[in-house]
Amino acid sequence: MGETGIHSGEIHELAHKAMTDVRLQEAYRSSTLRLYTHRLHAIAEVPGFEKLRERGQDVKHEVLEHLDVYLEQFESSVERNRGQVHWASTGREACEIVCEIVRRAQAREVVKAKTMVGEEIDLNQALESAGILGVETDLGEFIVQLAHERPAHIVAPAIHKTRTDVADLFAAHVNPQRTEVPEHLTAIARQTLRQAFARAGVGLSGANFAVAETGTIVVIENEGNIRFSTTAPRVHIALVGVEKLVPRMEDLAVFLRLLARSATGQKLTSYTSLLTGPRRAGEDGPDEMHVVLVDNGRIRALADEGMREALCCIRCGACLNACPVYRKIGGHAYGWVYGGPIGAIITPLFAGLEPARELPFASSLCGACRDVCPVKINIPDLLLRLRAKVQQESPAPKPKGSPVTERMAMRLWAWIMKRPLAYTLAAHLARFGQRFLVEEAWIKRASMYPLGRWTEGRDLPALAPKSFRQKFKEISKGVGADRQPISS
Ligand code: SF4
Repeated sequence: MGETGIHSGEIHELAHKAMTDVRLQEAYRSSTLRLYTHRLHAIAEVPGFEKLRERGQDVKHEVLEHLDVYLEQFESSVERNRGQVHWASTGREACEIVCEIVRRAQAREVVKAKTMVGEEIDLNQALESAGILGVETDLGEFIVQLAHERPAHIVAPAIHKTRTDVADLFAAHVNPQRTEVPEHLTAIARQTLRQAFARAGVGLSGANFAVAETGTIVVIENEGNIRFSTTAPRVHIALVGVEKLVPRMEDLAVFLRLLARSATGQKLTSYTSLLTGPRRAGEDGPDEMHVVLVDNGRIRALADEGMREALCCIRCGACLNACPVYRKIGGHAYGWVYGGPIGAIITPLFAGLEPARELPFASSLCGACRDVCPVKINIPDLLLRLRAKVQQESPAPKPKGSPVTERMAMRLWAWIMKRPLAYTLAAHLARFGQRFLVEEAWIKRASMYPLGRWTEGRDLPALAPKSFRQKFKEISKGVGADRQPISS
């Protein structure tokens, strides 16, 4: 993981800020809901989608069991195709390798296709320090680069930006003639990026998968910018996390079906590129192809049997779209490169427990992420394990102040819960008290302490007008009344 993250406690400030930004919340809510719904429709069309998920899970587990073997096989396959493999144990090493390749190619400019590993290792900062211009060519990444931000979502980096935001950014940095028409904005980006593709000496990409038996890098996209980045410049560099391997070409058939449907609800993305070595005689493409295999905490995670399942992730983003916490606070509030449920796991695994100790607690453990994960990662289970690890290895300093009231409230709660009469009385009082606060079955704004602090950033479900026992009694009476006496 790169060196930019947040300090302990900052996640609360970021989340609080996000929860008071109504415009931002609406942008996240509508976009994640759209992706979530598209996914539902797309998987409904595939008979036996569950079987496909199981197959994907099995292949990923097989890779992790024999990662050493597959990595060596991949290296030999790439070299057989005249590509070069570089091994980077840390993010810094990976950045140095990339900068050195760019220097040797005597290039001043690099066109970058979307790569989350590049974000993870702070590659843009490293390029800048080396005097190299890195231009993001994915439209979403291009937008967040103009805004000097990080991607807000694994799949949709500019998910938090409205059309107006993009129009303002383009007018300020790209073309002063302001427009909000999406087609015109896209045309402006295309014009600017075409010039960058023509100038750049090096193209840099990530990899969705890397096939061990053939040494093939697989990248999927909808815009065509990855094809340009990997074929137009003289040199192509692929940054690949070591967990991205799949053993055989035939496994791709499983993962391509899973990934596009889970990410954007498409059957397949518009472009699927399989890159096997530099160009051969009579072909288009780069003269050199370099693959940088990045560890950066992955091998440490692999050694931890309880946590290694997290390395199965194929970065589809479905768990982010399903997560009620991510939908509310968005990606930047997590403070690191990877947000959402899977980010709350892989960030502490890659960056170390201490700097990211609060992330595993940023979850309601509702399980929606597990239900949508195409490779069936048990995310809530991993979050609980990480929480236990944090408590053992890096316990939080003893809280001061307000938790006294919290402890008293918990004691009172426990006392009531053990006494049926007190429980019934408390429920009656609460039902009576909430009458002045409920709006459409929710308590949305309450001024008095402690409810006020809760409803400042989220809604509280109101108590049902009748308790379960009351309803049960009424229904039982009704059923009894309907029954006909049995004649003898
Ligand atoms: S954990 Fe599963 S759902 Fe989330 S991004 Fe990874 S593969 Fe997709």
